[in-house]
Amino acid sequence: MAIKDPIELETTSRDVLQSMEMMDHEEVLFCHDKASGLRAIIAVHNTALGPALGGTRMWPYASEQEALWDVLRLSRGMTYKAAVSGLNLGGGKAVIIGDSRRHKSEHLLRRFGQFVNDLGGKYITAEDVGMTSRDMEYIRMSTPHVSGLPAHLGGSGNPSPVTAFGVYMGMKAAAKHTFGSDSLENKKILVQGCGSVGQHLVALLVKENARIWVTDIFEDKIKEVTATHNVHVADADNFYDMEMDIYSPCALGGTLNDATIPRLRCRVVAGAANNQLLDEDVHSRELMERGIVYAPDFLINAGGLINVYSEYLGNYSREAAMEQTRHIYDLTLEILQKAAANGQTTLAAAKQKAEARLRMAAQLKIPFNRD
Ligand code: NAD
Repeated sequence: MAIKDPIELETTSRDVLQSMEMMDHEEVLFCHDKASGLRAIIAVHNTALGPALGGTRMWPYASEQEALWDVLRLSRGMTYKAAVSGLNLGGGKAVIIGDSRRHKSEHLLRRFGQFVNDLGGKYITAEDVGMTSRDMEYIRMSTPHVSGLPAHLGGSGNPSPVTAFGVYMGMKAAAKHTFGSDSLENKKILVQGCGSVGQHLVALLVKENARIWVTDIFEDKIKEVTATHNVHVADADNFYDMEMDIYSPCALGGTLNDATIPRLRCRVVAGAANNQLLDEDVHSRELMERGIVYAPDFLINAGGLINVYSEYLGNYSREAAMEQTRHIYDLTLEILQKAAANGQTTLAAAKQKAEARLRMAAQLKIPFNRD
């Protein structure tokens, strides 16, 4: 067995603590299990408002550092998402390092559930990229701290239709703010990523007679969409220069960066992906300076969280979750108008609203465990 150099180990752990300090995390748990092949990281960012609820992402990260960075950013985003949406939840997230198409197994999922259980309810997991509600069923065998179970087990099922509906509401609000009307008819919209959310979003946009372009890195995903909808296909890497009204990132994060923003020829960015801005401050400002209205990701993609939160509260109803998600329209309009009035970025306006609620909760000292 190769033993790591103590200096190297010390540097790595110092990096982790420095990153946690920088982003203000409460707790990070590294999980390893040789028998199942599990390598995972659970990050609890903030529990001022309640337990940290956030999905688990399974992705073949190139390095542990990349996985750590992702989980730290994602969990912080969950804190903002819950706070701005008015939910009594904290922010947390987990990543499993591996290819979900090849490395996922019952063994690995049940072992991961045991690690979630060790946190005693401080972190509640759910699905994210690379996970399904069937996977939540396996995790449930090891812990009650999981939401997004299949409907036949009394759960809320796949959250993606609710997320897509929220993104659609946020997109309409951004259209109202930018074009003077919330109608998306004839608007040229590019949806990047034809996964669970992207496909449901496309269905909503088709109903409204938008002109739709889609991209994905997997041919089978493109085929699933083109088989049911009359949409155009764009090149996954070279679409950024396309003239379009709305760019909707629904794949992974970081697609708004130094290389892509100068190429963008759209008026609005509104999509489901978490952490769309590679550098929050720099890139939100750059979008503003170029006259591109950015609908903050954590604000408009909160539908899935609203959905699993209703399951967590009990007496789940999809209609009620959809109704609550509809409010994303008003909330987005409020934030975009406030940002325009104050000359600040839309991201700053959304974060300000969330932070005010977090400060209030910290003073109230709400316990994360409701029991
Ligand atoms: P998914 O895994 O079902 O779909 C993602 C799709 O993006 C896949 O088809 C994948 O092939 C594609 N993709 C990956 N990289 C790409 C690239 N460079 N270019 C084009 N396509 C690419 O995931 P999902 O559940 O649809 O979630 C999409 C995004 O929305 C993720 O960032 C997720 O974190 C976020 N989100 C999802 C939910 C939810 O309810 N599912 C809720 C909130 C946020």
